This record gives sequence, structure tokens and C-alpha cells, in this order.
Amino acid sequence: MTDGDFRHVYVIIEHEDGKILQVSLEMLGEARRMMDDFNKKYLSKEKVVAVLLGYNIKEISKTLIQHGADAVVCADNQELRFVRNTVYTKAISQIASDREIATNIEPEYAVQFKRPRYMFFGADSIGRHLSATVMAHLDSGLASDINKLVVADLQITHQNKTGGKPLTYEKTLEMYRPDFSGFLWTTILCLDNRNPATQKDFHPQACSIIPGVFEVIKPDPQRQGTIINYTPRFDEQDLKVKIIDRKIVKSEIDFDSHKAVVSFGRGVKDLPEQNIKLIEELASEIDAQIGITLPLSKRPFSVSQTVDSTYLIPDRVIGTSGRKVSPKVYVAVGISGAMQHIAGMKDSEFIIAINPDENAAIRNECDVFVKGRMEDVIPIFIEEIQKQKQAVQA
Ligand SMILES: Cc1cc2nc3c(=O)[nH]c(=O)nc-3n(C[C@H](O)[C@H](O)[C@H](O)COP(=O)(O)OP(=O)(O)OC[C@H]3O[C@@H](n4cnc5c(N)ncnc54)[C@H](O)[C@@H]3O)c2cc1C
Repeated sequence: MTDGDFRHVYVIIEHEDGKILQVSLEMLGEARRMMDDFNKKYLSKEKVVAVLLGYNIKEISKTLIQHGADAVVCADNQELRFVRNTVYTKAISQIASDREIATNIEPEYAVQFKRPRYMFFGADSIGRHLSATVMAHLDSGLASDINKLVVADLQITHQNKTGGKPLTYEKTLEMYRPDFSGFLWTTILCLDNRNPATQKDFHPQACSIIPGVFEVIKPDPQRQGTIINYTPRFDEQDLKVKIIDRKIVKSEIDFDSHKAVVSFGRGVKDLPEQNIKLIEELASEIDAQIGITLPLSKRPFSVSQTVDSTYLIPDRVIGTSGRKVSPKVYVAVGISGAMQHIAGMKDSEFIIAINPDENAAIRNECDVFVKGRMEDVIPIFIEEIQKQKQAVQA
């Protein structure tokens, strides 16, 4: 195992009926920025490779090149029309291990090629699932829900990995993940085991990336790249699950037709039932739909059956694990502002936060921060809104 066995960053692209998902373009943008630095610092010919699976999707390849890919591996196949985990896992794993593809990407680096150096997936429901099964297939590790990436040379001393000796790991991907509601960043490394007794490589160094974190690069229509068509190989066994029909089930919670959204989080904890009723009242005054943070969907508080089944439900979660909203007004009540929540509401036009903790991360995301407890602030809001309404009617 040498450094030359692993080359390039492969970005797994998702699309819905031919429309590329935003997170895929964001990942391409970050891969481009990262690889531009990598090319200057280390090896000039490693590439950003977009991996595109689907049916009747060839046209999308050009858009991916305009958004930063040097090469697109396009598996356009009827069996890939809809995402099926077994089939997609197999196709992506084949692409990641294929030396002929590597030759088309960069012949100079193909002789030793075993697998990609780095691999990115979107941290959405499909990407999270696929990243886990592909990495299990490729026998490497995975860091999930990442929001910052750095390539660095690191000196590591580890009982298992290095046999207790200090060793330099070059071109290591530091994958940062927000934990404890974003109060702590964990850095995750996926390191080869270089202990002579238990030697094993762990490549690709792979992660799933939180939507809404990285910038999409400005598309350049003049940008040139290589399009590599690939035909995956499936056994009868892989194709056992067939998709006969597919319907997108519309959620019963309609955020789109409301101009305002009032969301609440764990800050309701002191008086959950009463606080949720207050929030309900505020939402009704401004004709807002009600959202929640992810922990609330795990039903952490004891409340009446009606409140529980109306509000503490996954369908109302805003963020990477739930819905993305962009109302004119977003009111965040008792929400700390974790990255995963912000990704779901940051495109709102005007954001108000109510929180007693002036150091809460939500403060950096809002237009108006009201320092205070919801129990004290919301009644004043309601009173003021009612006065304003009466003034308008008079
Ligand atoms: C893989 C993964 C995916 C995730 N996806 C999502 C997602 O899609 N959506 C999501 O929301 N989270 C998601 N999370 C969880 C996320 O990281 C945070 O843990 C979560 O958003 C925090 O919820 P919170 O703001 O309700 O709670 P906390 O972080 O506990 O914040 C509560 C806030 O309430 C304030 N407060 C306390 N008392 C009051 C009061 N009386 N009045 C007003 N404010 C008060 C506190 O000061 C605090 O800021 C995900 C996490 C992981 C690991």
C-alpha cells in the first residue's frame, strides 16, 4: 500500500428527475476548492470526479463540469432510474475500484490506482444510507454529517495504528463535525493502519456533507472536462427488488403556503405544555405554520396526547433531517441554532430568535435577537401584534 494507490476526490451526485440537488453542487464546489489547493501543494494532476447514476441523465454531465468537475463518470442505465440501495451501492463501488476509469481520468496516475483518495456523499436520506453501504463494500471508514474539510499532513502516534511510534500521515482529510448542538467540533480522521502487525489501508477517506454548508461555485460554460460512460455489472440477485411504481407522498404539514413559520426547540422544557400552547397562539396570530427541532420529534417531554401527536412529529422537523423552508418570517423559539437546523431555515427572508442565552449560535443567523425567556417574550409579542391589527382595522 502506497500513496499512489489512492487518487482523486469522487463526489457522488444526486438528482431528482434530472435536476441536480443543491447539496451535490455544494459538494462539487468544495471539492474544487480543496483540489485546487491540493494540486498546488501536492500533486498537480489529481482531479475532481463527479459520479452520476441514473437513466437518461447524460445531459447533466455538462452542468457538473461547469460547476467544477474535471471528469464525470456517467452510468446511464435503466436499472439505475430509481435509487435502490443494493444496485447503487454496487455501481458506485465498481466505479470507485475501476482502473480503466482511472486511466481515462488521468493516465499518469492510473498504473497503481486502487481506489479514490477521498469520497463525498450528501448528508441527506439517500446519501447517508448510500455512504454507509458503499464504505462497508469498500471496507473503509465514514465520517457522517461534516461541515468543514481540511487536507493536512499530520503526525500521529497511536497504539494500534502506528504501533505506538510517531508517523506522518500526508494528505490526510480532517473531517469536522458539529456535535452537542454545534457547541463542539469533533475532528474525524480515517487513517491507514501502519502497524506492521495489523497493516491495512482505509481508503477512500469518505464523508457525508451537511446540505447548505458549502458554496456552489459560479458555473463556467467554457469549462472543459472528460465524460466517461460506464456500464455497471449486476447479477440477477442484485435486481431482485423492482420498483413497479413510485409516488411522492406529499407531507400533511404544509409550510409552503404560509408566509411565516414559528419553530420551537428544547427551550420549551420548563413548561412544555403551556409553552407549546403559547407558541400555537403566536403562530395563529401571524398565520404561521409550526416547525420543531429534531430532538422534539423524539418526544422528550410529557405533554398531552393532542399536543404530542400534533406537534412532536417528524413531519415538522426543520433541518437536514427534515424539511427546508424559506418563509418571509421565521421565528426560532428556544432553539440554539445547530448547524443541522440552520441548514433548513437559513433562506428565510427575516429571522427572529427568542432565547435567554446571548451566546446561542442562532444569534449569528438572525436579523433580530430577543434576549429573554419565551414565557415572558411571547405574551408581549402577541399583545403587540393584536394592537397593531386593531390599529390597521380602525
Ligand atoms: C446527524 C444529525 C442530524 C441532525 N439533524 C437535525 C435537523 O434536521 N434539525 C434539527 O433541528 N436538529 C438536527 N440535529 C440535532 C442538532 O444537532 C441539535 O442537537 C438540535 O437542533 C438542537 O435542538 P434545540 O435547539 O431544540 O435544543 P438545544 O440545543 O438544547 O437548545 C435549546 C435552546 O433553548 C434555549 N432556552 C432555554 N430556555 C428557554 C426559554 N425559557 N425560552 C427561550 N429559549 C430557551 C437555550 O438557551 C438553548 O439555546 C441533528 C443532529 C445530528 C447528529
